[in-house]
Amino acid sequence: MEISIYPIPMGLDTIYVVRGESVILIDGGDPHAIERLKEGVEKACIKPEEIRLIILTHGHWDHIGSAKDIKDWSGAKVMLHQRDMHLLDDAYPSQPPGFTLWGKIIFAFLKLYSPYIHIPKFDVDIVAGDEDISLTDYGIAGKVVYTPGHSWGSVSVVLDSGEAFVGDLAMNMLPMRLNPGLPIFGDDIIVVKKSWQKLLDMGAKTFYPAHGKSFSVKKLPDER
Ligand SMILES: [Zn+2]
Ligand SMILES: [Zn+2]
Repeated sequence: MEISIYPIPMGLDTIYVVRGESVILIDGGDPHAIERLKEGVEKACIKPEEIRLIILTHGHWDHIGSAKDIKDWSGAKVMLHQRDMHLLDDAYPSQPPGFTLWGKIIFAFLKLYSPYIHIPKFDVDIVAGDEDISLTDYGIAGKVVYTPGHSWGSVSVVLDSGEAFVGDLAMNMLPMRLNPGLPIFGDDIIVVKKSWQKLLDMGAKTFYPAHGKSFSVKKLPDER
C-alpha cells in the first residue's frame, strides 16, 4: 500500500495529510487557518471529499482550532481520545503547565492570551479509548495508539512503515525548542517518556511532531 505524506504548515503547527487508499488528516491546526489547509490539499491534488478522517492528536486549542471548518468543508469524521473530550467544553482554551523554565514562561504568556482565542465548536464522531485503532478501514496501513503524557488524552498515529505522528509528545521548533526532544509543557513528563518508549518498542523510526520538522528516532536525546 503506497503512502504519501504532506506536511501543511498552519501557523503555529502542522497538519499532516496522509494519503493511502483514502486520505486522513492528523490534527486540526490553529483556529481560522483552513485556507492554508485548502491550499496545501489542492497542491497535493487531493479533493476534499477524499478526506475521510481527522485524527486529533489531543484537545489543545492549537490542534483543534480549525476542526469544525475542516469537517464542514470535507465531510470527514473527527476522532479524539475520551480523556481529552472535556477540553472541548472549557470556556477558555487550556494550556498545560511548563515542564521547564522556558515552558513555564511560555505557559504564563499563553494564559494571558487564551481568553482571546475562539475555537468553533464541533462534534466528535469517534471517541477513542486506550486500545489501538486500526486504520485499515481507511486504506492506511497503520494505527492510532494511546500515548498520554503531554495531555491525558494524547494519541499518536503509527504507520506500519515506521512513521509516527506524535502531536506534542515531542517538539522540534522555536520558540519551544532548538532541537528535537521532549515537549516543554504537558501533564506528566514521566508518562511522556513512557509513551516515547511505547512508540520505539512498536518500531517507530521517524517522529513527525506537530511543532517542527520530522526527525529520526536516532536523534531522540538520551534524556529519556
Ligand atoms: Zn499540546
Ligand atoms: Zn501544540
